Amino acid sequence: MKYVLVLMLFFSALYSNDYINPFTGDTYDFHPEVSFRSNDYLSDIYNYDVDHYEYFIDVTDTLNAAVDGYAIFNIKATADIDTFTFDLKDELFVDSVFWNDQKIDTLNISRVNDRTYVYLNEGLNLGDESSFKVYYHGVPPEGSYFNASYDVAYHGENNSVVISTMSSPQAARYWHPCKDIPSDKATVDMFIKCMEYQKAASNGLLISEEVVEDSKKIVHFRENYPVCTYITSIAVSNYTKYSETWVSPQTGETLPIDYYVYPEHLENAKIDFSNVKDMFNCFSERYGEYPFMDEKYGMAIFPWSGGMENQTMTSIGSSIITGNFTHENVIAHEVAHHWFGDWVNIKTWNDVWLKEGGAVLSEAVWFGYAEGPFAYRDFMNSLKPTIINVKEPIFGYSPTFSRYVYNKGAWIFNMVKHILGDDKFYDAVKDYMNEPSFYTDGITSDQFFDFFSKYTQRDMDKFKDQWVYKGGVPNYKFSYRIENSDDHSTLKMRIRQTQEGDEVPIFDMPIPVMVQFSDFTDSLLLVDNNMANQTYSFQFNKRLHNSIPIENFNFMSKVLAVSEEEEFEDFDTVDNNIVKTEIIGNYPNPFNSSTTINFLLADRGDVNFTVYNVKGEIVYQAREFYNNSGFNSKLIDFGNISSGIYYLQIKNRETVSLLKKITYIK
Ligand SMILES: [Zn+2]
Repeated sequence: MKYVLVLMLFFSALYSNDYINPFTGDTYDFHPEVSFRSNDYLSDIYNYDVDHYEYFIDVTDTLNAAVDGYAIFNIKATADIDTFTFDLKDELFVDSVFWNDQKIDTLNISRVNDRTYVYLNEGLNLGDESSFKVYYHGVPPEGSYFNASYDVAYHGENNSVVISTMSSPQAARYWHPCKDIPSDKATVDMFIKCMEYQKAASNGLLISEEVVEDSKKIVHFRENYPVCTYITSIAVSNYTKYSETWVSPQTGETLPIDYYVYPEHLENAKIDFSNVKDMFNCFSERYGEYPFMDEKYGMAIFPWSGGMENQTMTSIGSSIITGNFTHENVIAHEVAHHWFGDWVNIKTWNDVWLKEGGAVLSEAVWFGYAEGPFAYRDFMNSLKPTIINVKEPIFGYSPTFSRYVYNKGAWIFNMVKHILGDDKFYDAVKDYMNEPSFYTDGITSDQFFDFFSKYTQRDMDKFKDQWVYKGGVPNYKFSYRIENSDDHSTLKMRIRQTQEGDEVPIFDMPIPVMVQFSDFTDSLLLVDNNMANQTYSFQFNKRLHNSIPIENFNFMSKVLAVSEEEEFEDFDTVDNNIVKTEIIGNYPNPFNSSTTINFLLADRGDVNFTVYNVKGEIVYQAREFYNNSGFNSKLIDFGNISSGIYYLQIKNRETVSLLKKITYIK
């Protein structure tokens, strides 16, 4: 043993580096530039897979906010090892460690920088299965990424205690021993010792509740679906529990949904949670059956301002409960994480966009499902301001949980969806959820694009590189000139990319350009663009309308282009009519009595709406005042006009929109 201790001192003195096994002296790759994510690179320091955890946690000492318990690790060695290594904050005491029921000599236990090393005299060989039991106690410290990973707080008029956990991203070690990386899932038995009057919520199925002594009880949950440590959780309070049953439209199977809410929140929670079942309808139809169908979904209130997708038992911040659906998107986000993140897990925190992007996209999917396609598009567009000015890549971005990572991640999903079209995209997502290595070992950005390139049938390397491993967004400047003769026309167009930055590439993206002809027909040109300054020339055998809009709401370029005023600059000094007022679309279309027109205005003020029939005769006119420029909408009721094709135009001061074809079916 002396030999070991000497080695430890020697290495501690030599390296200021955290990642030295004190018993073997092995050092590991250290990436100081990615500080807290550095564990991502260290899966080889454990050299074992966890098959199953059993946790016992006594949470009754709320006065000191202390825990007392044990963790059992059932593991399989993935290499020959002579040290069992696990994560636990140094502030917590390790009372004893048992290896297959044999107590380990304390001299063989070393703790350095939140990691515990247990020296094994006989060692384990590759493939050996073994069991370790770690008794521990103490006061979980604050200071994880989200500050309080184990929190004792109070709520309501009577100051009722609530105990909750927040283990993301690497904070499970703040309240229990574990192997705290997102790529090793294990099944879990969770025993929570709490007060008899309280209700405890956790992952998986409620197995039993047993009163033990002094008005205390032990609540046992079992999670049979392997779960990552960062989404293993407990929540304990004087909750009111209520349940509902979701019936899967796909299979007819039933799923219990259990809500653990503060009694004072019950009424509001019932309102805010009233569309959760419909969220399950929405997501299961698109992403495939709810992955945890044999267990449950649940939500437990905790003192926070967001949500945490703890597997099968989401923790929902108490401030989310308002009784008026204010934070509906957060609730949808956490439900969707059960496909993106909990089921298909990330391999490392550098790729966190894979789970957050999927969940934020799902917020848009939910709004589109509940309110129609414009709600989807408006939500996606609302994400852009957080994205457009950041020049660093989202891969490994710090801070990890920034809106930039979430929202750009959602846009990457959205662009892949646009390339495939909705139906093919959702078919691909269903296959993605069924890929065993993705839902067991986790996924990386590279694997994501390898997978989706099978569906897009194109090499996605360039796309991946520019959107994930490089930063920024394309900043397009368009200019064009139209040359009309009697029976044909030429469109000359120049597209410049003006984005700047060391890590910002010239983007290789298709740009959809809508052209409209004088005979009311139109055509969509998909322009390949991959240079900083690129010119195009198109010939048509009919006359062009005198201006073109760049129709592009699915890729990021439209709003990410320079300001509207500069967007269309003169092409070879020929003056063009600048489109500032435009119709985005109408919904529904076709329609059968009324339709909502969505449009952009150059200025606030009066807007004239004119509808023409195919002969160019005016069949409808209206004039209305709009207080704001930019996005607006108007409901038009067609009353007794006959069925057919019509063209809508809007005029705002001196700017006139293009004609928009609308179809009226009685
Ligand atoms: Zn999330």
